Amino acid sequence: MHDPIEAATRRGFLAAGAAAAVASQATAPKIDEPPKAVEVPGMKAKTEAQAGPPPAPAPPAKRLGFAVVGLGELALGEVLPAFGRCKYARPTALVSGDRAKAEKVADQYGIGPEHIYDYQNFDRIADDPTVDVVYIILPNSMHREFTVRAAKAGKHVLCEKPMANTSAECEAMIAACESARRLLMIAYRCQYEPHHREMIRLARSGELGPIRMIEASNGQNQGPADQWRHKKALAGGGSLPDVGIYCLNAARYITGEEPVQVTAQIAVDPSDPRFREVEDRISFQLRFPSGVLAVCQSFYSAHESRRCRVLAEKGWIDMDPAFAYHGLRMKTSRARDEAELTTAIALPEHDQFALEMDHMARRVAAGERPHTPGEEGLQDIRIIEAIYRAAREGKPVDLAAVEARDATRGPAPG
Ligand code: NAD
Repeated sequence: MHDPIEAATRRGFLAAGAAAAVASQATAPKIDEPPKAVEVPGMKAKTEAQAGPPPAPAPPAKRLGFAVVGLGELALGEVLPAFGRCKYARPTALVSGDRAKAEKVADQYGIGPEHIYDYQNFDRIADDPTVDVVYIILPNSMHREFTVRAAKAGKHVLCEKPMANTSAECEAMIAACESARRLLMIAYRCQYEPHHREMIRLARSGELGPIRMIEASNGQNQGPADQWRHKKALAGGGSLPDVGIYCLNAARYITGEEPVQVTAQIAVDPSDPRFREVEDRISFQLRFPSGVLAVCQSFYSAHESRRCRVLAEKGWIDMDPAFAYHGLRMKTSRARDEAELTTAIALPEHDQFALEMDHMARRVAAGERPHTPGEEGLQDIRIIEAIYRAAREGKPVDLAAVEARDATRGPAPG
């Protein structure tokens, strides 16, 4: 069977012995760093925010190859364009049920027609030496099948959120990648994004005192009723697994804790054809072991809004928008004597999908656990199952306590 790590080694991207390193981090090879950034003289005075060095991408032949599975809105609108901003990843294959569309897209991105697959002949990707990682961007109910098939084909897997429709499916995905000795990462783009990394750092630093509450809200007004997101068998649920998952995941990565209790309420207009099978509005509350309460909501029938606020004893951190692809805005506030000091923190914008794909490429190269591995996706789905139960039964649902912090995450991105 073709081994992608050996293929990458042949292309000079990895040091020798990388295949063993996936199983054993102790023997992980060093990654060949790309050339240092070209130096350009800055035009701005030291008083101004500096532009920083230009990107220093690895040459295309030394990057890891990604196969994009599913050519829908996210793949075409965000992921494929993001490869242009990657340093370590490049698109080398496409998987689609529509050959004509795939040929057009392959042409746009310089992918040869011999690297186009469909959902039936997908397993032939095992013999494609240009593919190291399979990026699954399909309806949620298809994530398990294509993760298992990709792992069997000897490929590492980057899978979109939500990881799957049930925790049993997530467990099967983790087991398949473990037994194939391939890495599995869930595409939680926000965990690689600088504003979110700064929010995590500041919230945990103690500078603002202990965290008391987290408020998070994410949603938009949905389009046609007949799309897969409104079909329970394909989507697993409504706004909760699609966009509410960002609020849940944020509450978990801000605190580093796992909730021990959830409560929830659902509201649906029964005459709206979009919500015959899945929920529209959901409000859910998480109680963390330290006493932090997270109050979260997601929706499919109100105008787009994507906010997150951390309330600490001596100040707050606010992001609005927090979960959008672009234009994230961050503010902090704290008191000094009689004044309330509110500061806007404007960090340079980075493509979240490029950051996430480069992270996957580097972790594959190093044989290291990704920051958001399968266990991170599984934990969200387990909590989502508890949230639905709490809403159904109209009472709190307790969850098993997890002692360790960041128990489901690999090392933080550098
Ligand atoms: P989409 O409907 O635009 O694309 C889905 C693709 O799957 C299409 O190309 C479609 O043809 C194909 N497909 C194959 N079998 C299908 C079937 N039986 N029914 C419907 N489509 C089928 O969806 P999308 O918005 O690109 O979402 C795809 C995945 O990406 C989902 O898991 C979603 O949650 C995730 N997503 C993540 C983000 C993010 O920010 N990380 C954003 C959007 C979507």
